[in-house]
Amino acid sequence: MALLQISEPGLSTLPHQHRLAVGIDLGTTNSLVATVRNGISVVLNDADGRALLPSVVRYLPDGEVQVGEGAQVAQNEDPANTIVSVKRFMGRGLRDIGDVSGSPYRFVDSASTGSGQGPGMVQLRTVAGVKSPVEVSAEILKQLRLRAEAALGGELVGAVITVPAYFDDAQRQATKDAAKLAGLNVLRLLNEPTAAAIAYGLDNASEGVYAVYDLGGGTFDISILRLSRGVFEVLAANGDSALGGDDFDHRIYCWVLEKNNLPPLGAHDIRLLLTRARAAKEELSDHAETRITAVLSSGEVIDNVLTQHDFHEMSRNLVARTMQPLRRALRDAGLKADEIKGVVMVGGATRMPQVQHAVAEFFQQAPLTNLDPDKVVALGAAIQANVLAGNRSGDDWLLLDVIPLSLGIEIMGGLTEKIVPRNSTIPTARAQEFTTFRDGQTTLSVHVVQGERELVADCRSLARFELRGIPPMVAGAARIRVTFQVDADGLLSVSAREMTSGVEASVVVKPSYGLSDDEISRMLQDSFSHAEADMRARALSEAKVEAERLLEAVAAALAEDGGLLSAQERAAVDARMDALRARLAGDAASAVKMATDGLNLATAQFAARRMDASVKRALTGHRLDELDV
Ligand code: AMP
Repeated sequence: MALLQISEPGLSTLPHQHRLAVGIDLGTTNSLVATVRNGISVVLNDADGRALLPSVVRYLPDGEVQVGEGAQVAQNEDPANTIVSVKRFMGRGLRDIGDVSGSPYRFVDSASTGSGQGPGMVQLRTVAGVKSPVEVSAEILKQLRLRAEAALGGELVGAVITVPAYFDDAQRQATKDAAKLAGLNVLRLLNEPTAAAIAYGLDNASEGVYAVYDLGGGTFDISILRLSRGVFEVLAANGDSALGGDDFDHRIYCWVLEKNNLPPLGAHDIRLLLTRARAAKEELSDHAETRITAVLSSGEVIDNVLTQHDFHEMSRNLVARTMQPLRRALRDAGLKADEIKGVVMVGGATRMPQVQHAVAEFFQQAPLTNLDPDKVVALGAAIQANVLAGNRSGDDWLLLDVIPLSLGIEIMGGLTEKIVPRNSTIPTARAQEFTTFRDGQTTLSVHVVQGERELVADCRSLARFELRGIPPMVAGAARIRVTFQVDADGLLSVSAREMTSGVEASVVVKPSYGLSDDEISRMLQDSFSHAEADMRARALSEAKVEAERLLEAVAAALAEDGGLLSAQERAAVDARMDALRARLAGDAASAVKMATDGLNLATAQFAARRMDASVKRALTGHRLDELDV
């Protein structure tokens, strides 16, 4: 399949006038904005010289909204109105978020607020009213827009906003909506690992395959990118959404508890020790040892020295846990570690030397660490924004991303037919032809699903629509072309067209809520562990569909031309039909197939006689020279 080129022709006017464009890393913990100045990508600081904007939004009773540091400080005193990590709620439903019992937030289902966001979208009740994650994210983006406009002294033509490679349709759409609400023109969404690779200039490098290892505060992502003939493509993505720098803090925290034989602690002491643990972890990235001191609410004084060696020992298995998704991503990409040309490090936690050593050992080469791992994504996004704004002329610069789970439709027997396979590069358009099952069928129901499993019941339902007005034809005669189109931002639209009549129907898939990273990982895992059972289920289902089709056809033929059979022949056919119906109740594909073959054989003569009879009927009353032979 030809890869489609991404170009934004409308944006490439006025090549000599520098158009203000920014790249935004909308992070779970922190967000950043960057731009290209004099050909160099730089992060824009706020008036106090800070680059990172904490992704925290606080709503006050008088309608005032605090964003960033100010909101972060209030997190403990006003947790219900201070929203942190809102990225985790983007495009999600209450069901996706799972257990919310320990959360300080008052979650609301959007269906109950009549917000028109579709059923199941999560919202948060604050003193300033009910807020959607899109609105909360928009506050962060607005802050970054204002920062950029102040620093650059003008209005922005647009922004490139980064999202995790794993983000599904709903999450990407929610991000775009947030940007719109913040007054930003989205030039495009860009996968975070792709942005990191661009920041390292890999797009200008010689051809090859690169890995992006991203270990943040709470999540781990690994992506495999390929650069060939100027085309940048994400081959595979994997990760662990519950592994990050915080887990390393927790190891140190447990070590302190043990070392000092501490009883179960209150919330204040836990927070205090976790903060000390985090500082210790960061210090150990460039010191051989560190001192951890704290005074607990009981008055007990903590004073311990932790060596780099001991820290590395206690966190060894956390580092090892990142290797599993790494192997899976390589397997998905069909590559070996030694085929990787370079490794980009992203996320503050990759500053830990034991992480860098493990990665170097795995790939047998030193990873790229000379850019700030916290800024690298925003820097890359800014470079991409600069290109899309038309500030780099003469470039035929391509960028391709990947879809995380296969897209397909439901076919007879509750089976999935994959149309766009997992890890396909986007944008992409793929079409496949289908046909009708019954004679005279005038409506076709198209059920769009996402997932790796063979049975529809094990995949995620994305949308349904109907193609009506198909002219009545015999089963199998209609030609219905179903086209899947995934745009550069990963958003899907599906259309179906009956080719002889031209009737058409389509749907833009905007699911009411998306898949979580965990759900995607679980669906992938399931598809591997159930592969054999799935194949059996598929074989059975296909055999049953074929058997039912034959039974229906034979019954119709008997009703029409039953008189062509003797009583004995008719009894033999009936017996074969009964035998096949009996097999349909079981779950052995081979038995269904054998009984189908049996009925086919038993009706072969009947079919031949029907053919003769219909030819005779057609010829009756005609002379041979009338016929076009
Ligand atoms: P991010 O989500 O990319 O901002 O990463 C945040 C994580 O990086 C937190 O767990 C930080 O403690 C960790 N981190 C930041 N600086 C360092 C450092 N010098 N050494 C080790 N971890 C760090």
